[in-house]
This record gives sequence, structure tokens and C-alpha cells, in this order.
Amino acid sequence: MYISELGDLWHRARREPATVHLDSAAASRSSIETIDAVTAHLWREAERGSYVAEDQVSELLLRCRRDITSLIGRGDDELYFRESARSALRALLTGWQLPLSASVWVGTNEFGPNLDEFERRGYVVRTMPTVDTGGHIDTDALQNMLQFEQPDFIHVCHIGAHSATVQPVARVVELAREAGVPVVVDMAQTLGHLDCVIDADVVYGTSRKWLAGPRGVGFVAVRDDSKLSVNLQSSDAYIAGRLGLGVSLQEYHTLGAGRVQKELARIGRVTRERLTGVGSWEVVESVDEPCATTTLAPPPGWDATDVEAAAARLLSNGILLTCAHPWRAPLATEQSVLRVSPHLDVSYGQLDNLAAALRELSY
Ligand SMILES: *Cc1c(COP(=O)(O)O)cnc(C)c1O
Repeated sequence: MYISELGDLWHRARREPATVHLDSAAASRSSIETIDAVTAHLWREAERGSYVAEDQVSELLLRCRRDITSLIGRGDDELYFRESARSALRALLTGWQLPLSASVWVGTNEFGPNLDEFERRGYVVRTMPTVDTGGHIDTDALQNMLQFEQPDFIHVCHIGAHSATVQPVARVVELAREAGVPVVVDMAQTLGHLDCVIDADVVYGTSRKWLAGPRGVGFVAVRDDSKLSVNLQSSDAYIAGRLGLGVSLQEYHTLGAGRVQKELARIGRVTRERLTGVGSWEVVESVDEPCATTTLAPPPGWDATDVEAAAARLLSNGILLTCAHPWRAPLATEQSVLRVSPHLDVSYGQLDNLAAALRELSY
């Protein structure tokens, strides 16, 4: 039985997976229509010539652009496509005229590869204070700090890649704006998952995770009235992928963004309730963290290799999830965890299977 009332619709739009797929935070399963849109365009390119084919789908591409910008509450001309979230960040940082040794404030959940981008460019990175062990940004403390000092920008992962902590980005943006500090939000884990209409100066993300679009499509939106003047357009483009993403977005809007978000949060709560106290695994987040992702800390004494082996064992038992190592959030943790990220068609039975498999692994 599906946990969500949207489970059946989501499931029927897709091919039957070969595994229990609990890995949307890495990449979701695309729908049959999404895959058809990609392949149809690849054939069109071969038959008519790629640039002719692109002209023929210009209306659809425009609709895809609109569907993304409505998701993030931005204007159509503020959006640039890139091939991934990381390349969106790189293009932004390359084009942005920041001072030497620019200062950036981040949350403790900051994605390791983003920190590498900052360090490569010689930025001075500082961690914002947190209110709890989950690493939620302490916005009262932030407000205080901003009165005395303003970084060149704040960068926040709405959700990071090693935990399910949902950062209070709307409040961070509000405070930063009062202090005249631009905010960049990494929405790789939240587009298609949480409400992303947040008035940050820059937001960026990717197609393949919760939106269930194709791989190889990312995007970045820069507010027109932010003081950044950058051209982020890439020279070539995966047009077929954008068309596929367009279909995924239509499906998402048809289900209803608000409803999907609510159901995914419910799935997260049910998952954490079911996995609490299973073997010696520990559910890291609080039960009601408002998202679908759950992370599990291993039994005491287990190291990275043990967790890796656990993920491999689960996969050989037909259960796909992520073994998340600390490089994903080096400011927060030294621990490897299992990340469980089901989409709308997860069933109670699948969670029970996971629980049984985890219990077995603990001994
Ligand atoms: C996946 C992820 C990225 C990188 O996305 P790519 O499209 O693979 O470049 C960045 N930040 C977070 C939080 C992620 O989860």
C-alpha cells in the first residue's frame, strides 16, 4: 500500500523499477512521457537537423522556462540553463565580479564540492551559527552578526547532500536583504520537493533529483535587480533534456506543487517513524523535518567502509539508497550515513523490507 494518495499516479506514469528505489536525492525515476519526449527529440534532430529541430520546439522550450521560473518565483529572462547544479555555481562565480579574498558565510550543511569551488577561488569561508545539532541556521544570531559585519555574500544549501536539515532560507534572505548582503541558494535538493518561491538574489538547481527530469540539465536564476551582472548562458545545449524536464514539470504542476510537497513531507515523517529503533541504526533528523529524506547513522563503531558495505548489501537485496560520506558536508560531520530518499510511490511494505534488511545488517 502506498503511503501517499499520489503514489498510484506517480507509479503508473513510470516503468516498474528493477529495485526498491529509495534514491531520489541522487536521481529520481523519470516518467515514461519524459523519456519519450527526450527520445522523440533526439530522433527529430537526426531527421531534420539539430538547429531546425530546436526551432520547431521553441514554444515548448519557452513553456519549460516558464514552468521553472514559476517554481522559483522569478521572471523568464532571469533564468539560464546549465548542465548541472555545480556548473551553474561555477558559471556564477566565474562571472561575478567579487573582491579578492571575498567572504562567504555558509551553513554547516554546506555541500563539500561547493566549498571546494569557494576555496579554489580564495574566498574566506565562515560558518553561520546553528540552533541545534541538526545544523539549522540560528537566524537570531545571524541577525546580530550582520549588524557588525557583512560578508560579500551568503550561500545556503536549502537542504544539503548529507542530511535532511531544511534551512530557514526565507528568513535568511530577509535578514540579508536588510543588511544589503546578496544570498545564493543551492536548491539541488529542494526543487520539486519543497516550496522554492524564495526571493534570493541567485538560486540554482538541477533536473534529475526531485523533479524527476533527465540528467544533464541544470539551471540558475539571477534576480534582475540584484547588483550582479553576469551572462550565464552556455554555448551548446541539451535541448532534448530540456524538453524532457518540461514534461516532468508539467506532471509536477498537474499533481499540484503544494500537494506534492505536503505528501513528500508526510512520507519523510512515516519513514522516520518506521525506521526509528531499527537494529542499532539511528534516525538522524527529528521525525517532523518537513521533507522526504531520512538519514541513518550506523551502529556504534562502524566506519565508512562498513557503511559502504551495508549499502552494497542492501542493493544486492534489491534496495537502492545512497551511502553518504562526510565529503558531502565536511563542516558538519565525520560520519558516513545511509540516505533514504523515497519519492511519491514508496509503500509501507517497502519501508518494512528496508527495516528488516537493516535489522539483519546490525548483527
Ligand atoms: C546534487 C547536489 C549538488 C550538485 O548537483 P549536480 O547537478 O550534480 O551538479 C549540489 N548541491 C547539493 C545540495 C546537491 O545535493
